[in-house]
Amino acid sequence: MSSTANHSVGEICIVCEQRKEKGIRIYTQFLCVDCEKEIIQTETDDPKYRFYLQQLKKITNREIYS
Ligand SMILES: [Zn+2]
Repeated sequence: MSSTANHSVGEICIVCEQRKEKGIRIYTQFLCVDCEKEIIQTETDDPKYRFYLQQLKKITNREIYS
C-alpha cells in the first residue's frame, strides 16, 4: 500500500492504454509522450500508423460535453 493519498499518478493513454505520467490532453483524452513521439516518427504507409489513427479516433468519436 502506498502512503500517499493520491490513488492515481498520471492518466491512461488512449493509444498504449497504459498509465503514464507524462503526456498531453486532447479534449477529454490523454496521449502519453511516448506514443506522441511514436506517431510522429511513424511513416503514414506503416501499418502501425493505421493503428494509431484508429486509437486517436476515440478522441473525435466522443461527444464533448459541456
Ligand atoms: Zn501511450
